[in-house]
Amino acid sequence: MKVASSLGVVENQTEPQPLPVGSGEEGGNWSRSGWTDSISFEPVPTCYVCASTTRTPAFDLSFFDHPFQWVRCSDCGLVFQSPRLTKGSLDLIYNSELYWRGRSDATPPPAESTDELRLGYNNYEMGHPYRMAQARQRVRALSRHLPTGSRVLEVGCAAGFFLSALKQAGFDATGIELSAAMAEYGRSRLDVDIQVGDFDQLEIPPGSYDGIAAWGCDSNFHDVRKTYSHMVEALRPGGILAFNYFDFDHPARILLGSFKRVYNAIYYFNRSNVTRLLNSLGLEIVSHSTEFQYTCLEEVASMTGRRGVQTLARTLGIQRSMLRLPIVGSYLLLARKRPHPSRRP
Ligand SMILES: [Zn+2]
Repeated sequence: MKVASSLGVVENQTEPQPLPVGSGEEGGNWSRSGWTDSISFEPVPTCYVCASTTRTPAFDLSFFDHPFQWVRCSDCGLVFQSPRLTKGSLDLIYNSELYWRGRSDATPPPAESTDELRLGYNNYEMGHPYRMAQARQRVRALSRHLPTGSRVLEVGCAAGFFLSALKQAGFDATGIELSAAMAEYGRSRLDVDIQVGDFDQLEIPPGSYDGIAAWGCDSNFHDVRKTYSHMVEALRPGGILAFNYFDFDHPARILLGSFKRVYNAIYYFNRSNVTRLLNSLGLEIVSHSTEFQYTCLEEVASMTGRRGVQTLARTLGIQRSMLRLPIVGSYLLLARKRPHPSRRP
């Protein structure tokens, strides 16, 4: 299919194919269900941040009956999956219905009105107020560095809550999203401009955007240097890159249980190596602050794997009350493209 008129690009894309819903539970306990057998891994010869070839084992986990391994770069401290999931395997996962339903914040509308699918849809609708509040907070942060009317692209926009908040604030907003179902949901329910495609594959004229945002995917790009380089090229000099990330080496990690220890965490930044990566790409950090998250107790329990919190909240009937919490160790980061980028390794 042809993609992205408003992105100023035309790219041949393969229409994402829906995958059968697997059996088993969400998270790391999914059972094998056919398609999970076809995921594969590939070596990662050098660190994404510093290009070092030396690393030490960090931790191992098992998902879909496959072993997953993470290592730590001996130079910059980046922890990354090695061997990593192939791009094709990630695409399989992100286009699976089970992935979106497993994340209760991002379930697409049901294709069929079975009870099981309706449940996912209900979860999505119930998450709406939290996601809009979160999106407005991020727009306020961006507004401090970009004037109203600026052209902003969101990479991995899911259903487009941030785009909707940008549009309401007077920005010219466009999103790119791998999942055709999520894109359709955003277009039809939130009236936002979302193109289906893989950002890495898009040819975008250099300097096309005043701002580029990528929320909730700080660990998930297949080759983070390649993707961030592509974003920087698409920004005009002086433009703003905005994203959030979790500092893997923050002392609070010990309190957060299994948070972020997931199969699609291709790498984990810390404050030092994310700064090093951005500097090497010609960006300077203009804002680095703890992110506040609008959420509910049910979601907090789900993210951290603390089932006791979920049970207690349900007993008290407050599982869906809106909370604004500082996420210790999670940062909202804005960086400006230098007028004359000096690319340092
Ligand atoms: Zn490194």
